Amino acid sequence: MPTIFAKIIRGEMPADIVYQDNLVTAFRDIQPMAPTHILIVPNESIPTMNDITEADERVMGRMMLAAKELAAQEGIAESGYRLIINCNAHGGQEVFHVHMHLLGGRPLGPMLLR
Ligand code: 5GP
Repeated sequence: MPTIFAKIIRGEMPADIVYQDNLVTAFRDIQPMAPTHILIVPNESIPTMNDITEADERVMGRMMLAAKELAAQEGIAESGYRLIINCNAHGGQEVFHVHMHLLGGRPLGPMLLR
């Protein structure tokens, strides 16, 4: 079963896509938790961080570069931002297609609840 993110990448589901190239796609989160909340995903469906291999080095690097560019575009590069990749149950992963959250636009508080 294709995930919701696979459908967004293929243009079969609407989304506010802010960047797309041959390796990655970035779109705004449907339930933003900060003024900027963008999801950056590999175009290829990789379920979790546990599934990445050496063959994915390039796409994972591209996700980082896209995050840097998008942070600049959003005007949050200097104020700062946070990148998060959740994995499986304890990480709180809900969609099983690897994705990196780019969050910023306000102080984000401590990294984790104590
Ligand atoms: P996770 O908890 O797996 O790290 O994050 C999944 C994220 O995907 C959540 O922040 C959630 O709001 C977002 N999300 C879930 N369904 C959709 C959707 O259909 N469209 C968009 N743009 N974001 C979604």
